[in-house]
Amino acid sequence: MMATSDQFSIKCKHCGKNLIFDQPYPYHAGFADQGFLYNDAGTLTLVWSVVDPIIDQLFPEQPAWTLSLINRWHFEKLLLPAPTGGRWRFRNPARCTQCARPVSKHLFHSIHYLVYPGSIITDQNNQFRLLDYMTSAAKHR
Ligand SMILES: [Zn+2]
Repeated sequence: MMATSDQFSIKCKHCGKNLIFDQPYPYHAGFADQGFLYNDAGTLTLVWSVVDPIIDQLFPEQPAWTLSLINRWHFEKLLLPAPTGGRWRFRNPARCTQCARPVSKHLFHSIHYLVYPGSIITDQNNQFRLLDYMTSAAKHR
């Protein structure tokens, strides 16, 4: 399969599979004020805006972009499971869809993210929809 101009690909260094993403390049989360996590399988991405009001509501004492480790853990616990199962976690790497090994860290610093098919982008069209993907515990704060 060939990548078109609005896609890019990474060749898995473990199994050689060509991973194709529907994005022109790995997005830089900092430029767009976004946060992101991968699911346990490492093949789905959850993206949110750091100015989503729910972040401020949940962690009023901290700027969202610099969530402390303990707040990251609380944040993860408030998220619903990924659509394909498993949790969203900050420590999950992006993985190859074929062999499940982590995609090379040398290629992309963690500030860049990949959007796998079926990923959840909660800040599209200037909307803030992160709460839709959180448990009822987040809604009752
Ligand atoms: Zn692979």
